[in-house]
Amino acid sequence: MKKLTIRDIDISNKKVLVRVDFNVPFSSDGKIADDTRIRAALPTIEYLLKHNCLIVLISHLGKPKGKIEAKYSLQPVAQRLSELMNKNVVFASDCIGADVENSINQAKPGDIVLLENLRSHIEEEKNEPNFAKALASLSEIYVNDAFATAHRAHASTENIARYFTTPVAGLLMEKEIEYLSYVVEQPKSPFIAVIGGAKIKDKLGVIKNLLPKVDALLIGGGLIYNFLKAQGLDIGNSIYQPEMLDQAKDLLSESKLRLPVDVMITDKVDVNGNTKIVKADSIENNWAGIDIGNETVKIYTDIIKTARTVVWAGPIGVFEIDRFAAGSKAIAETIAETTKNGATSVVGGGDTVACLAKFGLKDKVSFVSTGGSASLEFLEGLELPGIKALKDKELK
Ligand code: AMP
Repeated sequence: MKKLTIRDIDISNKKVLVRVDFNVPFSSDGKIADDTRIRAALPTIEYLLKHNCLIVLISHLGKPKGKIEAKYSLQPVAQRLSELMNKNVVFASDCIGADVENSINQAKPGDIVLLENLRSHIEEEKNEPNFAKALASLSEIYVNDAFATAHRAHASTENIARYFTTPVAGLLMEKEIEYLSYVVEQPKSPFIAVIGGAKIKDKLGVIKNLLPKVDALLIGGGLIYNFLKAQGLDIGNSIYQPEMLDQAKDLLSESKLRLPVDVMITDKVDVNGNTKIVKADSIENNWAGIDIGNETVKIYTDIIKTARTVVWAGPIGVFEIDRFAAGSKAIAETIAETTKNGATSVVGGGDTVACLAKFGLKDKVSFVSTGGSASLEFLEGLELPGIKALKDKELK
């Protein structure tokens, strides 16, 4: 870990501003549908409480476009956090200004204050220095634990760090950086990557960055049909991105890139569609590829079983529909089994986590990243602005 964390500095009794990612989904009745992101911040919050800090939490929620709106309020999150911590959480109805300062001044060490949605000020997404400065003035120490937002240079993730001598990472951020760096920088071989999902455009950078490091890179999902089309094959109604065909073609000569030998096709992408498994070069007109076939499942899972490091980004088929989920399920189960046998597995990016959760395997891999686009950008080898802004450890 190259960045300083809350463990590396004297944090006891300090007033600490923590950028968290509480951008949780809500169901139609206004209840929090999934509190994973709140739970993911608990280790940092608990650590700070143990050190008698006054904790000021800041986050965004949705895209309120510069004004406070009830449906984008973090108030329900304050309540949920309070339930999880079994402790009062003070909620401030803005994130800067005199009222916020009052709430914080009245708080004591060991208290938690959650401020209202950062994006209720347009300056947040514009990375505006004055807004960052106003946020920074609320505390003595700045901690960034919002990995899932680290790919954005926003006032609360990037500019704010300039107002502190030692901006540090929280414990979630630390774990994310450690696991993703392991994959990108020093994976134990055999290293197998499984890359799927809907659009090749989102994953091309990841494929290019990982190819020189992997022993094999297994292609799944909608990405498959871009490569088949680039080979000049008929892909029927399967999804692909025409503007990406040249780039897909350039990768065809890569021997480590593995494509399916057979695929499941359907005449209708819904629960009532007819299905059949065909060779990858025999997709019929008006039919669409929606999963990998049995032969490919066998080849891919045999390869995964050899791994000491596995990374998985992107579902293998349209896993939301059970009939099209066999490939994704087999891959998920094999990654879980390989992890049990000692491999390090990292899963993240796009819908992969939902896919793993569907098969009840979220706790059977080494690490599930909380970042969607942030994880993908990290795997692409890009420097994330929210991480770059944090203080480096001094090299001994
Ligand atoms: P992503 O968010 O890019 O990881 O993409 C996830 C989505 O890709 C899921 O909703 C899947 O249903 C979809 N997907 C996977 N395979 C296919 C396919 N062959 N055709 C269409 N969509 C697919």
